[in-house]
Amino acid sequence: MIKIDLDQKKDGPLKVLCLGAHSDDIEIGCGGTILRLIEENPRVTFYWVVFSAIGCRKAEAEQAAKSFAGGHLERLLLNGFRDGFMPYIGADVKAVFEELKRDISPDLIFTHQPHDAHQDHRLISELTWNTFRNHLIFEYEIPKYDGDMGRPSIFVPLATENCQAKVRYIMDSFASQREKNWFDESTFHGLMRLRGMECNATSRYAEAFYCRKLVL
Ligand SMILES: [Zn+2]
Repeated sequence: MIKIDLDQKKDGPLKVLCLGAHSDDIEIGCGGTILRLIEENPRVTFYWVVFSAIGCRKAEAEQAAKSFAGGHLERLLLNGFRDGFMPYIGADVKAVFEELKRDISPDLIFTHQPHDAHQDHRLISELTWNTFRNHLIFEYEIPKYDGDMGRPSIFVPLATENCQAKVRYIMDSFASQREKNWFDESTFHGLMRLRGMECNATSRYAEAFYCRKLVL
């Protein structure tokens, strides 16, 4: 397949906006791709926004964002919306998006996919498109009990080292989640292996995304 290079900017760094409903969503959904972007685009900058980062999960989100983005982290915005209730306080969540629109004009946005079974994830996906209407948006997937895995259309092959770093950063950063039955290394490696198989990645691993609109 023909590869598309995201590093085509001549007039400044590639600006990436990462949106996640909860602490750990960005990292699980696109953490490996973030590590690859940094490797391939030394000037890339990240605007990192989590909508529900409360209590210990706030410190965990901060640790993870710094682990993944390091010196490329331009801005970290951790909001305190209640987990599970975002559609019912949608006006307040939308207000954050309106501020983002004033502050940032990203080249690439990572957000949730619209058919995600979690209501908070769906709202963040909807408001992403509602706010950023002339932008490149990749929608990531989050494995969960509900079983909402679909057929993504964008594949990002990942080096084994990046997969291992992704999983290590997630397990190290989100201590409060380790007791959950699904939250373990095999879930994260397994999904990346499956997506790597689907795109015939030489490394065997990949992350996958949905893309509704792509202009060439
Ligand atoms: Zn989530």
